[in-house]
Amino acid sequence: MHELSIVEALIEQVDQQVEQSGQTGRVVTLELVIGQLSGVSCDSIRFAFELLSRGTSLEGAQVHITEPKATCRCHACHAQVEIDQLVVQCPECESRQISIEGGRDLLLQSIELEDAV
Ligand SMILES: [Zn+2]
Repeated sequence: MHELSIVEALIEQVDQQVEQSGQTGRVVTLELVIGQLSGVSCDSIRFAFELLSRGTSLEGAQVHITEPKATCRCHACHAQVEIDQLVVQCPECESRQISIEGGRDLLLQSIELEDAV
């Protein structure tokens, strides 16, 4: 499963950032951005996270996922249309002179740590 390796890398990344920040609290919330065209399933991400976070400082953390839509920009009619799946032609004029923007992001937006008291 593709998502397992993504989450593995993610957990490593979070661990490093927490360590660099010098804080020791447990991670309570993670915010992720997963574009709708990234080909990654949010359910699988959550599942993989639960599996892989056990025994780490991320165990039990809430995972919030934002799924930004992609935009199809047409060079023929200059339409900008939000799309939720990949298209090969402009939804407005059916021209194939299009570019797809956004929607493929896969990134760690923010980490929230428990207050270490
Ligand atoms: Zn068009």
